[in-house]
Amino acid sequence: MTTKSPKLIIVIPCYNEEEVLPITAPLFLNKIQSLVSKNMISEGSKVLFVNDGSKDRTWEIITDLSNSDKVYEGICLSRNRGHQNALLAGLMYAKDKCDITISIDCDGQDDIDAMDKMVEEYLNGAEIVYGVRDNRDSDTFFKRSTAQGYYKLLNKMGAEVVYNHADYRLASSKVLKEFSKFDEVNIYLRGMFPLVGFKSTCVYYKRHERLSGKSHYPISKMLTLAIDGITSLSIKPIRIITGLGILMAIVSLVLIIYVFVSYFSGNTVHGWSSNVIIVLLIGGIQMISLGVIGEYVGKIYLETKHRPKFIISETTENSDIDNK
Ligand code: UDP
Ligand code: MG
Repeated sequence: MTTKSPKLIIVIPCYNEEEVLPITAPLFLNKIQSLVSKNMISEGSKVLFVNDGSKDRTWEIITDLSNSDKVYEGICLSRNRGHQNALLAGLMYAKDKCDITISIDCDGQDDIDAMDKMVEEYLNGAEIVYGVRDNRDSDTFFKRSTAQGYYKLLNKMGAEVVYNHADYRLASSKVLKEFSKFDEVNIYLRGMFPLVGFKSTCVYYKRHERLSGKSHYPISKMLTLAIDGITSLSIKPIRIITGLGILMAIVSLVLIIYVFVSYFSGNTVHGWSSNVIIVLLIGGIQMISLGVIGEYVGKIYLETKHRPKFIISETTENSDIDNK
């Protein structure tokens, strides 16, 4: 055990969460208080909300909270940048102000009580602690099966991701300082943290229903995250295309021989349908291949611009109290 208890900042991205924030904010406060009373974290520990350009009253709620108790802090992004960027903004903001961070969604789906075990694991020497869902009973059948298939696909593609881990995780400031050197614009945090290394472990918890409000991950956003996950971590899809190309070349060689044979045996007219099928098939494969390569070219384009991933427009007034 370390002699001095660590300072914790809980980092919570929020997008249009006026309904659920008033319910969950006190839960985070209670958790901080209970961990402080058990001497597991230090007194200056905080709850940091990141307002991801919400269009509702989320930011007002955050500023009210910060006025009511100095445990609450908030930063406001200049516009909506999506969950991953909002979380990164919070983590980067927190990294020099604490010893450990725990990132969690603000909807109460992830079991807040798992934080006790996470901090314990940190005190026992882990620098990253992944929160892993025990089961997916609270998800719809569709989300559960697509998510499981996706994790398998990611691992097959050579990306190292922790099975059933979303973005509920403890990361020490040491890890975050190294992480801040990852300069890329296309970010998929749950796949990038394993790349940082350091001693890591998992803590298991049950995932609940959202306490209130509704999910911001419709199928289209889920698909975007899924594609980003694969293309930001692996170039295997491009290899698969190369493989497909080679396969097609071999097949066409065989077909060419077949064409010659039919030509010399004098029956070249029929075979129209097989021709059309081949043209369509090859056309389809080419379009998909171009799409996949385009996805990577697009990523390179975005990376070369070096645009900032987020811009903080405001912070709550108490945000600089207790700078470590
Ligand atoms: N979120 C965000 N920006 C967005 C979308 C979502 O900061 O553009 C936050 C949201 O407030 C929540 C977390 O990301 O705290 C996870 O979102 P949600 O609960 O809607 O996703 P789900 O749990 O359904 O996958
Ligand atoms: Mg949620």
